[in-house]
Amino acid sequence: MTDLVKQWVREDIRSLSAYHVPDPGNMIKLDAMENPYSWPQAMKQEWLSLLLDAPVNRYPDPAAEKLVTQIEKVMAVPDGMQSILGNGSDELIQIICMALSKADSVVMAPEPTFVMYQMIARFTNMSYQGIPLDDKFQLDMPAMIKAIEKHRPAVIFLAYPNNPTGNLFSASDVRSIIQLAPGLVVVDEAYHAFAGTSFMPMLSQYDNLVVMRTVSKMGLAGLRLGMLSGPKEWISEFDKVRLPYNINVLTQLSAVFALQNHAILDQQTDQICRDREILKQQFEHIDGIIQYPSAANFILFKVAGYGIEKQDSIAIFEALKQKGVLIKRLSDTSGPLANCLRVTVGTADENQTFIDALKEILVG
Ligand SMILES: *Cc1c(COP(=O)(O)O)cnc(C)c1O
Repeated sequence: MTDLVKQWVREDIRSLSAYHVPDPGNMIKLDAMENPYSWPQAMKQEWLSLLLDAPVNRYPDPAAEKLVTQIEKVMAVPDGMQSILGNGSDELIQIICMALSKADSVVMAPEPTFVMYQMIARFTNMSYQGIPLDDKFQLDMPAMIKAIEKHRPAVIFLAYPNNPTGNLFSASDVRSIIQLAPGLVVVDEAYHAFAGTSFMPMLSQYDNLVVMRTVSKMGLAGLRLGMLSGPKEWISEFDKVRLPYNINVLTQLSAVFALQNHAILDQQTDQICRDREILKQQFEHIDGIIQYPSAANFILFKVAGYGIEKQDSIAIFEALKQKGVLIKRLSDTSGPLANCLRVTVGTADENQTFIDALKEILVG
């Protein structure tokens, strides 16, 4: 068996470790940028009655036309642009890479950033170039320009705001990259709902820009739905790589319904933004914590000046778990994320429990 596997499974795949998602059990879950709120009871009832008649015996609409129309309206996709949907934006990243993968093609992204860019580049046999961000987690433009000239990337991914750092890159830097790039630039706006700024209105100004969004961070992570919008020349090629029924019947129905009620999601998002600001203020009053600016629904923070060495953040992560709060540990190594942790903004109560637990750990 092992010999067979060794003989036939790609070596680069065998050498990977599987993407690990910890089991939250009963812990307060502040690790995955989820919206902590559910829907009002009446809205749930209406949703359920809609699902009663869902034609699950039939294949879904392969182009999910109703949902695309609805999503383009809510997300203000400019006239003349086209969109395709993915089973989460992860699938869209995969579709882009499958369509662009050639023997020598390169995927580029600043680092640290969303790990799926690198992973999917590998899966699709592309080579990956990660270019370090500067010490403020902004794009290091001289380094980016040099790397673009040297590697001529087929695609550059820019998460705007960036994950796991939480900040927005300078918009004029992003525009310069779009202008300099020989290939496609994907601006990944997974956290758009919390950022209040977007490249969507600029789609028609460039022939190498596409904008990616997801409903995951807006409160619909369980549906698995992402979208990619841009010039039809690009989108129609990506559409050929997409599997025909990638958005299932229940997701199509539920997402159309949820987006018809997007005022509720917007209220929740506004609440999360307000609670993010409260969390920022509370961080300011904790000694030994450095927080980074966030335009997303999470905050990156560094445990510093707290005595010991790089084990600090891991010890704090574990102690928080003991107290029933799960956040994200980012790194136990050196590099820009050394000693960093990432906390998702939850409900006001969850945030307070987290802050109290953190204070206890740091003082005790
Ligand atoms: C969470 C996240 C995504 C993935 O979203 P899904 O639609 O849930 O697959 C994409 N990009 C970034 C930067 C993210 O943080």
